[in-house]
Amino acid sequence: MISSTTQILSDNLQRIRERIEAACARAGRSRNEVTLIAVTKYAELDWVRALIDLGMTELGESRPQQLVSRAAELPAHIHWHMIGHLQRNKVDTILPVVSRIHSVDSVRLVEAIQKSARKLGVRPRVLLEVNVSGEQSKDGFDPTELMSAWPMIQTLDSIAVEGLMTMAPLNEQVESARPVFQELARFRNQLIEASEGLANLPDLSMGMSGDFEIGIDEGATLIRVGSSLFEGLSRE
Ligand SMILES: *Cc1c(COP(=O)(O)O)cnc(C)c1O
Repeated sequence: MISSTTQILSDNLQRIRERIEAACARAGRSRNEVTLIAVTKYAELDWVRALIDLGMTELGESRPQQLVSRAAELPAHIHWHMIGHLQRNKVDTILPVVSRIHSVDSVRLVEAIQKSARKLGVRPRVLLEVNVSGEQSKDGFDPTELMSAWPMIQTLDSIAVEGLMTMAPLNEQVESARPVFQELARFRNQLIEASEGLANLPDLSMGMSGDFEIGIDEGATLIRVGSSLFEGLSRE
């Protein structure tokens, strides 16, 4: 018998996949260009197990402790995405288990990752988080600050910078995300130009439950979806 949790997750997943396909079709993009990351930060462990049984392999967590403990409990084939603010003193513990870090938001963190990666003999795949909307309260590089640090970042041999991440401002109007996502895509091109074409920044991580269609429209390759995936389930 299939549990009701699995049934709900399976229905939600199907709906989200249909939304992704429709958004790709509208944008004239191939479905293969977009990876769905299931954000499990508020999900109970049983729900995450059910998602894995349904074939999900890309999971995102926003707290390093939870990412590390779940990585230890769940199957080794899962790719873990660190999407929340990362303190420098947590870098050593997450590098051995993380597949991508989306939330690299300062020069000091970049340097801490380089140092730790070199020590551990790994080369983590990262995205630089950019605060394109300029909200005071938000994490992320200021674009000007990132542009000045960019030559230095490109010399770091133990970090693979593969793209950029941003969060749209919280707003009832879904369309308000669009200029923010457009700006992130434009800024990615500026970084590539500044590297004289040497940098390859294929990935844009932008779009959550409410606005991932807009993200896809504006070139997202990674979307981070939590609440729509777990709709209809309630925590004990
Ligand atoms: C929680 C979170 C998400 C998922 O948001 P939903 O609106 O629940 O889909 C995506 N990205 C980050 C960085 C988050 O913290």
